[in-house]
Amino acid sequence: MTTKGPGITVLGLGAMGSALARAFLRAGYETHVWNRTRQRAADAASAVSAADILIICLLDYNSIYEQLASANLSGKIAVNLINGTPSDARSMSAWAHEHGAAQYFDRGVMCVPEHVGSEHAFVYYSGEPEEEIRRIEHILAVLGSVEYMGKDPGAAALYDLAFLAAMYGMFAGAMTVFAMLRDSNPKASQNWTQKIAPGLQALLPSLGAVAAAVEVGDDSPHGHTNSMQQRGLYNIEVACREQGVDTGALEFLEAAFDAVVAEGGGGGGMAMIARKFTR
Ligand code: NDP
Repeated sequence: MTTKGPGITVLGLGAMGSALARAFLRAGYETHVWNRTRQRAADAASAVSAADILIICLLDYNSIYEQLASANLSGKIAVNLINGTPSDARSMSAWAHEHGAAQYFDRGVMCVPEHVGSEHAFVYYSGEPEEEIRRIEHILAVLGSVEYMGKDPGAAALYDLAFLAAMYGMFAGAMTVFAMLRDSNPKASQNWTQKIAPGLQALLPSLGAVAAAVEVGDDSPHGHTNSMQQRGLYNIEVACREQGVDTGALEFLEAAFDAVVAEGGGGGGMAMIARKFTR
């Protein structure tokens, strides 16, 4: 099979890096790979020199500083798909440009490895003017749809972490549920799929209305008063305690409702709770 250019080097063959490399190979791109422990002989610098586009998917930003310290990035397009903070992304962008990179994009990979390259995958990118990402969009689209978030290298990281905050919040609730339903019949797995998930799916879009209320400072209850929700959270806490289930995952939220109600906001709505999340 003839391969397409430009050449791509994928640095890091963990779960995600391997999926990225496979997607480029499937699409027919000349793909080079490097991984710390599987290629002790070859150094990262020579892998970098093999291609024009670098897809970086190591564990963390320190791994990049460590492995690419002596690499010549002159003229390269570096696409860093490692999870980090907006500040990490801005520092890495400055570092990459100082080391000669022509362009540096930071990311948010919004899918799991098994979905890379599928219709479910999309990736946030930021760090250069939009026309630069559009020039390589047809290549990056092999991984998933390309969402450009702006010139600030930290922009994509912010959206990535915001998504993950929502995801881990959901995980925290789910872990509480699994513990509450551990002795249930049918089993927790069946209950989750049949009884819990459909309700959550129906509820999820309504959070957009809460976000809108937060934006404009609309403290009205929209049919769900803070007093009512405080009572619900209290009942969860009592039931969990009786069952030996840890309620730590919900404690901050419960404390926020308690505080708002104590301050006289029992008749109000979620916008008042949201303000407790800003320090
Ligand atoms: P893995 O733990 O599967 O792989 C980690 C990779 O980093 C390995 O290739 C490992 O190499 C390498 N590595 C670790 N430390 C160093 C180091 N000091 N120097 C060089 N290489 C190092 O992680 P994933 O592939 O799952 O994740 C990689 C990135 O992708 C993360 O930032 C993650 O947040 C992101 N991501 C992952 C998703 C997932 O579902 N897996 C989803 C979305 C994003 P070695 O084999 O030598 O240990």
